[in-house]
Amino acid sequence: MSKISIAIHGGAGTILRKDLTPEKEAAYLAALNDALTAGYAVLEKGGSSLDAVEKAVNSLENTPLFNAGKGSVFTEKGTHEMDASIMEGKTKMAGAVSLITGIKNPVSLARLVMEKSEHVFMAGAGALEFAKLHHCPTEAPEYFYDDFRHKQWLEVKGSDTFQLDHASTKDKKFGTVGAVAIDINGNIAAATSTGGMTNKKFGRVGDSPMIGAGTYANNETCGISCTGSGEFFIRGVVAYDVSCLMEYKGLSLQEACDTVVKDRLLKIGGDGGLIGVDKLGNLAFSFNTEGMYRGKKTSKETYVGIYV
Ligand code: ASP
Repeated sequence: MSKISIAIHGGAGTILRKDLTPEKEAAYLAALNDALTAGYAVLEKGGSSLDAVEKAVNSLENTPLFNAGKGSVFTEKGTHEMDASIMEGKTKMAGAVSLITGIKNPVSLARLVMEKSEHVFMAGAGALEFAKLHHCPTEAPEYFYDDFRHKQWLEVKGSDTFQLDHASTKDKKFGTVGAVAIDINGNIAAATSTGGMTNKKFGRVGDSPMIGAGTYANNETCGISCTGSGEFFIRGVVAYDVSCLMEYKGLSLQEACDTVVKDRLLKIGGDGGLIGVDKLGNLAFSFNTEGMYRGKKTSKETYVGIYV
């Protein structure tokens, strides 16, 4: 019987206390707590880590506070294009979707791709056709409308600027969500979901739906979910790099996460963070930004936090 544990994130970045009212801070912490509780309840009942990470990410996708599902940012055309991925570490099966619109829970569609198709990655119209075939729940455009995100978009609309979540030029925040977990059978899973970048165009896709970059799971090493400047996470093959450092160099989970996030990623100019779980149920956070919306839960401890 393995030790069960779960960690989640709601994005990293320059999260300034002065910009976060006590009410807003409480709302973020409550949303993180809800997601942790939903995921951990699955593990406690003997459920799979795959179910746990899906439930936790669904909970974060259903709140407008984070840049995923309901809270997704606006594209250059004023639409929402979402990306998500999920992977499980025993069989190394994975599913991913990109550039999808109107799907209530993108991570659940990624799981359908993993379980109901021969493929790993589906994008755009084809992915939506597949979603329809499998009766994946959808929502009208109004569901994804949020005043705050709309204002962010209006600030940069018509320009060539694209922004990471609710970032202004001097204040970068990444609102992607993710979860990693290990279940009673020692199986590890990881999942990530995002709306990408405000005002993104040309079908831009970040690291979140890319297996090995934004998400990775391997029972022999770890489960990882990332958030940050996606282009750099793709070039750094970040999630897989953490696993490789553990497998080939024998680093601990925390050492491997810190080496990638605080050294290798910084050297190529990437900012953001990640969460990880290893085969013993240890959990790790690592970020090179001022904060990261995050939480973790084991039988001994429950923690949610934002700042360093
Ligand atoms: N990594 C995501 C992307 O580049 C953004 C984020 O983490 O908020 O699409």
